[in-house]
Amino acid sequence: SGPGLTSGTASFVVNSPNVSYTDAEIKAQYTYRTTSVDADAHGNLVATPREVLYDFKVDRRVPRVGMMLVGWGGNNGTTVTAGILANRRGLAWETKEGPRAANYYGSVVMGSTMKLGTHAKSNKDVNIPFRNVLPMVHPNDLVIGGWDISKMDLAQAMDRAQVLEPTLKAQVKKEMAAMVPLPSIYYPDFIAANQEDRADNVIEGTRASMAHVDHLRNDIRNFKATNGLDKVIVMWTANTERYADVVPGVNDTADNLLRSIEQGHDEVSPSTVFAVACILEKAPFINGSPQNTFVPGAVQLAEKHGAFIGGDDFKSGQTKMKSALVDFLINAGIKLTSIASYNHLGNNDGKNLSSQRQFRSKEISKSNVVDDMVEANSVLYKEGEHPDHCVVIKYMPAVADNKRALDEYYAEIFLGGHQTISLFNICEDSLLASPLIIDLVILAEMMTRIQWRASGVDGYKNFHSVLSVLSYMLKAPLTPPGTPVVNSLAKQRAALTNIFRACVGLEPESDMTLEHKLL
Ligand code: NAD
Repeated sequence: SGPGLTSGTASFVVNSPNVSYTDAEIKAQYTYRTTSVDADAHGNLVATPREVLYDFKVDRRVPRVGMMLVGWGGNNGTTVTAGILANRRGLAWETKEGPRAANYYGSVVMGSTMKLGTHAKSNKDVNIPFRNVLPMVHPNDLVIGGWDISKMDLAQAMDRAQVLEPTLKAQVKKEMAAMVPLPSIYYPDFIAANQEDRADNVIEGTRASMAHVDHLRNDIRNFKATNGLDKVIVMWTANTERYADVVPGVNDTADNLLRSIEQGHDEVSPSTVFAVACILEKAPFINGSPQNTFVPGAVQLAEKHGAFIGGDDFKSGQTKMKSALVDFLINAGIKLTSIASYNHLGNNDGKNLSSQRQFRSKEISKSNVVDDMVEANSVLYKEGEHPDHCVVIKYMPAVADNKRALDEYYAEIFLGGHQTISLFNICEDSLLASPLIIDLVILAEMMTRIQWRASGVDGYKNFHSVLSVLSYMLKAPLTPPGTPVVNSLAKQRAALTNIFRACVGLEPESDMTLEHKLL
């Protein structure tokens, strides 16, 4: 115990009168500094520095955590499972390029660092693994389970996915063969008709019901009890569903949604039924697909129960590049005028997305990702002006999980000139998405152990039910009702790191480095 953070190698302690440690908790007083802007009588803007004092409390006791995946037998589900087993056992395997060993590349938590500060003597940056800023769960310790409408065991499902090297598969095969997904709920109208031949592991009933909610809650409880877990986090990595119509009286409020489930209304999707089961079970639920699982009634239900939710749609390849590149272009003062995004992929996700209604969900989640950056720049864009943006996805079985993403960014530069940037991104989609699943689980769990209060006020509270702090990993970030969506990748990362720093009483990393400039 003692006052140092104990996770990982480079532990640290904050030396400040505002921060205190016990075996169970870290408590920090933090001054949140912002700038409030108003207009005076003449319409001139007046900017006023503001300060709010918060107390943060972090539970240091790392719990035993279960990760339950909906769609466990899919490409992402099998890949993330094999990846965790490989890391847990420290596996290495032969490839045509030589031996390869398990790692967590692509995970912000496990693969990136953050600047802790500047060395007292040398003035050099001191960086620590991201995972050491707060006492986080290690992915090797996650107990994995889940559901799938296909009853194939995970070893066979991993073969079906065509993602991993045979030499790696051989080493995890036995363990994976013993893993069989729980039966799931299947409402055929929500996913593509071409998925029907997989659905051999389904719970009776083809529309929402309280029996389904109870069944899934029971699955979570059993999994928790059987494995001696403190907490379970549930992730939707199943097929993309069509959008559910948001209908007043049906799914617009928590009560209406519960009543619609009781009455078996056909606009309630399987993913929403999972969300409701998790909310009632207080298991954080994250949606990795683009559909509108979190209809207003589901968000309200989560708020009512103080349960955590997050979504939507993993931000793995094309959109991640987009939210970095567009931020760069517009902040460089370059007027982006169009983005043409074309994808082809040959995995089961691509097959499902070859159906129009499911493609539409993806098109929506991929389309809004530059809005905030455009709106923020009134020098380049008039009100309501927006770059053209088009998204195409085609199913091409031969390329399997090796998704191709081609993007053309067309921009107006100085004095009417043009800049065209052409990107061609190829990679196994599931190898990009799997580390995001790990990050989302670890960060969501961490958020369940952080509480805050306005300084001097009694009683700590949780963060808001909608975990917008997970935005970095998500294409269409869900935010608390009425709050803005931030798509810029750099801002999303800064929010995540700076909130975690604040929890241990550290200032945001400002990158001013005055110590190197005022010599
Ligand atoms: P996949 O088709 O290989 O896997 C989905 C699995 O879900 C299948 O095994 C299917 O049988 C199962 N399933 C369908 N409906 C179900 C239900 N109601 N209950 C339980 N299981 C159900 O797809 P994938 O490549 O693993 O991707 C999963 C999801 O993640 C897709 O919606 C995809 O759009 C989304 N996504 C993936 C990436 C990526 O980079 N791989 C990025 C963003 C979003």
